[in-house]
Amino acid sequence: MIIQLKENASYKECDSLKEMLDSKSFRFTEVKTQLGKYLIALGGNEIDIRSIGNLRAVRDVHAVNDKQQLVSSKWKTSPTIIQLGNDVQIGHESFSLIAGPCSVEDKVQVEEMRNFLSDQQIDIMRGGVFKPRSSPYAFRGVGIEGLKYFSALCHEKNIKVITEVMEAEKIEAMYPYVDIFQVGARNSQNFNLLDALGKVDKPVLLKRGLSGTINELLYSAEYIFSGGNERIILCERGIRTFETSYRNTLDLNAVPVLREKTHLPVVVDPSHGTGKKEMIEPMTLASMMSGADGVMLEIHKNPEKAVSDGAQSLNFKQMETLNQKIKMTSEFLKDLNGKF
Ligand code: PEP
Ligand code: MN
Repeated sequence: MIIQLKENASYKECDSLKEMLDSKSFRFTEVKTQLGKYLIALGGNEIDIRSIGNLRAVRDVHAVNDKQQLVSSKWKTSPTIIQLGNDVQIGHESFSLIAGPCSVEDKVQVEEMRNFLSDQQIDIMRGGVFKPRSSPYAFRGVGIEGLKYFSALCHEKNIKVITEVMEAEKIEAMYPYVDIFQVGARNSQNFNLLDALGKVDKPVLLKRGLSGTINELLYSAEYIFSGGNERIILCERGIRTFETSYRNTLDLNAVPVLREKTHLPVVVDPSHGTGKKEMIEPMTLASMMSGADGVMLEIHKNPEKAVSDGAQSLNFKQMETLNQKIKMTSEFLKDLNGKF
């Protein structure tokens, strides 16, 4: 059960609510986010929720039977839209395109990339500066100095910056340069990192773990929300299965399931989901059909020379063609949804 508290509820009014919950054997957790105050009450005896709704501290009360509470669509029926400023948003009736290199390499690369994105009207650029690599000998990223020029060059052209944060201790140093913090698949259940991102007033894109279930992804999102940050974007990026014909199995089933279970926006990452550039276009268009709010794509001016993930990166020409197909598919879907 989610109890939304009035912003101006007094201590005394809150205490009467807590006493009532205690008397009915509920366990409860107080949550304060940038947007509201909540009490999450679990367990407990049967109760007529109107008796809670009538208390002075209470703005609204919702019976939510899901395992996850705050991220559930059972209480917040309207979709969450993540506003990034300058009319850039993720979620609901707009299909977002996030594109950029797997890794930030140098200034020239970022400048060429952001010029390309700007020409293509793509307003969110990805690029890792701290790279989680399976091998310790692989390229590990240009670090905070790289993030500084990545951010400065993008912001000159009003392009938003998304980059992966791998440890809670780095959040503060990265904060001024980042528009969206990305949590990678390997950190999807790093609960200390998720708690720390709950304290941040910038959006978080949370990826599904390498072998994470949908339930686990939602629990991870619940950590961030209950930590205080409501601005979360979920990302399906493929899971590890027995199949070896591609890098991961992009689980597009997850999109309609998440649509049903949560009010949070869902984007798909076909680059890591397939690992193969030939598969990016069909799986991007399939992501659109599955109801995703956007895709995140790896692109590179010269994929053969990319320091990481060249095999799954589109070149500029391929991205340009795909962008045209995305726009046409968006129009088609608007038309279709308008008819039914
Ligand atoms: C990435 O997007 O840079 C990345 C490392 O992806 P994932 O965490 O999904 O493997
Ligand atoms: Mn990559």
